[in-house]
Amino acid sequence: MYFCKSFMDKNNIPFIIAGPCSVESYDQLREVTETLRQLSPVRLIRAGVWKPRTRPGAFEGLGEPALRWMQSLAKEYGVNYCCEVARPEHVALCHQYGINTIWLGARTTANPFMVEEICNALRSSDMTVLIKNPVCPDARLWIGAVERLRQVGITNIMAVHRGFSMYHNNGYRNAPLWEVAMEFRREQPDIPILCDPSHIGGRRDLIEGLSITAMQLDYDGLMVEVHPHPSEAWSDADQQIDPQAFTILLDNLHSFNRQLSDNDTAHLAPLRQQIDDIDHELLRLMGQRMELSQQIAHIKQARQLSVYQSKRWEAVVADRLRLAEALGLRADFIKELLEKIHAESIRVQIEK
Ligand code: PEP
Ligand code: MN
Repeated sequence: MYFCKSFMDKNNIPFIIAGPCSVESYDQLREVTETLRQLSPVRLIRAGVWKPRTRPGAFEGLGEPALRWMQSLAKEYGVNYCCEVARPEHVALCHQYGINTIWLGARTTANPFMVEEICNALRSSDMTVLIKNPVCPDARLWIGAVERLRQVGITNIMAVHRGFSMYHNNGYRNAPLWEVAMEFRREQPDIPILCDPSHIGGRRDLIEGLSITAMQLDYDGLMVEVHPHPSEAWSDADQQIDPQAFTILLDNLHSFNRQLSDNDTAHLAPLRQQIDDIDHELLRLMGQRMELSQQIAHIKQARQLSVYQSKRWEAVVADRLRLAEALGLRADFIKELLEKIHAESIRVQIEK
């Protein structure tokens, strides 16, 4: 069980998976393996064999011949490979060629019937299974795939956060929406989580920043696409990095301590105390605010006024956003906070 969360907590070393988006030839796989096996943080080499593509006609992976090369290179170099499975038959083929770690891609995780079929093929196997987040920002669908795997007896499970398909991605290939991954982590605290900066970023120049953010957010590791000659790659050419850039990335990657020492705690204590005091004050004020909403509700009821008054609400938002700007607070954050408070205030008035 070397993948379990407690192993990672104890060792505090990021778990790194690296390798090309797809296997393209024996020579390409050999070349990248030769380099990656010398980099100690790399625990597994990723290499896609079946590629679910958005549009027909793109390179869909080499299939079984690629598995044969992986098997022989795994023996020769003493490395472990992993690849995506997208159908139940792929599980049997991986098994046949000695691939013990597989992942479910984002399109598969979004499809519970396919997850179920793959799980049936995995029943009672000792494979390690990585689950990418579904293409849509739905943490429950992601958790559902974990539950289905557990139901068929898979215990070595990791999650991979690869971002979400949104209409506006803010410059990323797949919007990171870190908060969706946070929800997954809160619900599944025992599942190690890796970040896939390659599929989030979609561009070489974004990989390092995203990887560092993931470490800041206490991810357990990374899955990074590394190709010996990225610009010539048959799939995802824009986002793969070469081994040299990858080595620099590893050097710049600090893993952060999960456990605070007594000294760390002492340093943080005075500021944490102030935060605690402020939170308590915020909650006391919130209580007073809701109390006022109730008084307002009685007046509205007596005068037969509707609870929701759009003009008043627009004026409140405009006033608070002006203040937020003057205080250097982000408008989106304050707007979201006000909307939550307003929704609760309306509920209090309706249900009084
Ligand atoms: C991949 O890892 O190459 C891949 C296609 O992943 P995803 O399912 O995240 O798109
Ligand atoms: Mn890819």
